[in-house]
Parts: sequence; C-alpha cells; structure tokens
Amino acid sequence: MRKAAQLGFGGIYVKPDVGGSGLSRLDTSIIFEALSTGCTSTTAYLSIHNMCVWMIDTFGNEEQRHRFCPSLCSMEKLASYCLTEPGSGSDAASLLTSAKRKGNTYVLNGSKAFISGGGDTDVYVVMCRTGGPGPKGISCVVLEKGTPGLSFGKKEKKVGWNSQPTRAVIFEDCVVPVGNLLGAEGQGFSIAMKGLNGGRINIASCSLGAAHASVLLAQEHLTVRKQFGEPLANNQYLQFRLAEMATRLVAARLMVRNAAQALQEGREDAAVLCSMAKLFATDECFAICNQALQMHGGYGYLKDYAVQQFVRDIRVHQILEGTNEVMRMIVARNLLQE
Ligand SMILES: Cc1cc2nc3c(=O)[nH]c(=O)nc-3n(C[C@H](O)[C@H](O)[C@H](O)COP(=O)(O)OP(=O)(O)OC[C@H]3O[C@@H](n4cnc5c(N)ncnc54)[C@H](O)[C@@H]3O)c2cc1C
Repeated sequence: MRKAAQLGFGGIYVKPDVGGSGLSRLDTSIIFEALSTGCTSTTAYLSIHNMCVWMIDTFGNEEQRHRFCPSLCSMEKLASYCLTEPGSGSDAASLLTSAKRKGNTYVLNGSKAFISGGGDTDVYVVMCRTGGPGPKGISCVVLEKGTPGLSFGKKEKKVGWNSQPTRAVIFEDCVVPVGNLLGAEGQGFSIAMKGLNGGRINIASCSLGAAHASVLLAQEHLTVRKQFGEPLANNQYLQFRLAEMATRLVAARLMVRNAAQALQEGREDAAVLCSMAKLFATDECFAICNQALQMHGGYGYLKDYAVQQFVRDIRVHQILEGTNEVMRMIVARNLLQE
C-alpha cells in the first residue's frame, strides 16, 4: 500500500496541496483497471481508501483537509467508509447510528456492518444520525482509531477480497469532537452519495482489470491445452466465446470511461451514468471471468490457477457500493422523473 502511495495512488483524485495527485476521474479509472489485473482485492481496498480521502478533501474545511489528508495520501494511515449497518443496507438512509451533541462533542452509539479495512485502518468516515428520520437527518463525522468507545467485530470469512479485512465497527458512547464533522449537520447522506458516484466508477474499473486479465488467461489456456487432438483454440465455439468476452469487455470499458469523464466535467447526468456503468461493467465482467474459468475446465476450479481468484474477487462488486438492483432503481427513477 505504501509503495503504491509513493507512486501517488493514495490520493489519486485529491488536490495536491494536501499530498494528493490531482489527477482526473478518467486517470483514476485507468489506474485502478491496470492495478486490478494484478490483485483485484487489494486494488478494491485502495479504491475505497481513495474515496474516503476525496470526501475529506472535498467536504472538509481547511483545518480538516490539512489534518487528515497528508498522512492518508502517503498511506501512513488508512481509511474506511462506514455507511452500512446490520439493519440498513440498500435502504442506507434508514441508518440508526446516533450522534448526540454534548457540548463541543458528538456522542456516537450504534454499529456498522461489513466495513472494508475495519479494525486495521486508522481513519473512519462515519455516516450517523444527528437529526430526524430520513436522509436529511444524517451527518458525516471522521473518527480516529483509538477513540474510547470504538471497537470492532470479528474478521469476516469471505468468498473473495481476502487480501483485506472486513469487520463490524461498533460505537459505544464514542466521543468525537464537533471539529470532526465534515460539511454541515444534515449533509452527510449527500456527502456519502457523492463519494459513491466515484466509488462506483472505481469498483467498476477494478472489475474491468479482472476481466481483462481473465481474457488473457483464457486465451493462453485455449492455446496451450489440447483436446480431440488439437489445441482448444482451434474450436470455433470457443473462439466465438472468446471474441464475445473481448467485445463485452470493450463495451463495459467504454461505459466506465464515459461515466468517469461525465463525473469529471460535473455533468448533470453523471450520477446516473455512474450507476449504469457500475451495473453494466460489474455484471458483464463477472460473466467474462466466469466464462474464462469455464474455458479452463477442471483446472479453472483449482486454486493453482489464477482465474478462480478473479471470479471470487469480483463477485462482490455486484453487491457493494450499492447493489446492482439499487443501480437499476437509480436509473429507473431518473428515467421516470423526466
Ligand atoms: C466484502 C464487503 C465489503 C463491504 N464494504 C463496505 C464498506 O467498506 N462500507 C460500507 O458502508 N459497506 C460495505 N459493504 C456493504 C455493502 O455495501 C452492502 O452489503 C450492500 O449495500 C447491500 O446491503 P445488504 O447486504 O444489507 O443487502 P440488502 O439491502 O438486505 O439486500 C438484499 C438483496 O435484496 C435486494 N434489494 C433490496 N432492496 C431492494 C429493492 N427495493 N428492490 C429490489 N431489490 C432489492 C438487494 O439488491 C440484494 O440483492 C460491504 C459488503 C461486502 C460484502
């Protein structure tokens, strides 16, 4: 992680005055796609870290930006994004973690589920309720590890994403200075969703890398493996499947790049394009990786072969940063409101 940060990957789209690389969303997508061809899981965590640093850089005041961002950009410290709760997943605006104002502090109570990096990271960007029900009652605060009342659940055993831990994050009378509030009270849900627009492009880019690597692995296997007296690559059915995989990968990549560009330009349709790209790319890329595994036959199911890891690692991209059903809800809402 820290070596990646030396290359500027700790705060890719964070402003340079606090240690960021100041690159665009399109640059970021290309970087995450490339890194993900190596290890999708590690790149995916890196993308969540980047999303958190961007949130602090964008919505924090000058004091907060200079206090938190430099050590996050160098990855001396690592960050986690805390939105999901045991009782609030897709319906994120129903979250219950409370932050009650007491003097110059907020006292947090509640818990977060499935937090990437949880327990091993240093900075927690937490969505919590300072007001009434619904999205307008939600605020965003930054918590540091070591804060009394902050604890963690057991490390979850997962199908993939095994290079990084996932844990519950628990708040029991956890006292946070008011100076750690990002933006204004009640702005937290909007901050969380703005972070996720970029997060969705990033996670889709990680899927592109996994699919690209899997196409190359399938291509090599078909060339090397012989059945019925000749290389599998001579079989026209398998050739056509490989051609379809490559075509679907290029289509997915173009959608992701287009959404990244729209977000960079601050276009009005950026959020819906990000949702479309996340839906399309993570579904297509999972199908590509799975087909690549199929082309490996029994070998594809063995951990000695890399393709299975791509399948396991990207399966979750259809679930997190908003499930692909939630992506459909966002796109449909946009269509029907117009
Ligand atoms: C490995 C991993 C890492 C994660 N990391 C983080 C993290 O760092 N930070 C964080 O905050 N969260 C994280 N998450 C949580 C993730 O974002 C949630 O799991 C996800 O948003 C879905 O919520 P849920 O699991 O509660 O599913 P639910 O919301 O209970 O949904 C269950 C199913 O029902 C579908 N569904 C729900 N409502 C509807 C509807 N109205 N219409 C149609 N279908 C619907 C969903 O799409 C899904 O298929 C992580 C999850 C995993 C598995």
